[in-house]
Amino acid sequence: MRDFFFCGMFLNVYIRTDNLRYRKETLMPEDVDTLETKRSKLLEEFLSLGDLRPGSLTAVMRRCGKPSCHCAKRNDPGHDPQFRLTRRVAGKTVTETFPNPTALRKAQQEVTEFHRFQKLSQDLVALNEKICRLRPVEQQRGGWTEQEKKTLLRSMRKWREK
Ligand SMILES: [Zn+2]
Repeated sequence: MRDFFFCGMFLNVYIRTDNLRYRKETLMPEDVDTLETKRSKLLEEFLSLGDLRPGSLTAVMRRCGKPSCHCAKRNDPGHDPQFRLTRRVAGKTVTETFPNPTALRKAQQEVTEFHRFQKLSQDLVALNEKICRLRPVEQQRGGWTEQEKKTLLRSMRKWREK
């Protein structure tokens, strides 16, 4: 049995678009306003996400085991492959098979969409980290508020009573 990973194809596409986006980013000056605009656009992209779910799609080539069958020959592609979606649920691998190519294509679309979601999430976190670093600390107002004074005095009285 040999497993062929199908998701590699989709991943390449995303890595390429990522590189293009990165190149564009480095040319622009990055201040909090620019980054906030980018964040708004990114958040809008989340709305375009369709049905999504995690998992790895694999095609398992099948050989029936009969010595007289064509599949017993070397370099024979074997019988129709069985397509599977595997994912980890609470530490265990759950496998799903697909009855027909249409069901498989639907699952492929859902997994592709999940990868898009992951990419968007990573971008969103990276963008937010930049914003957090650049965002200045708010100006401290001088003095104590009345509430702060009361709370502070109350706690000081408690210390004295001990
Ligand atoms: Zn066979």
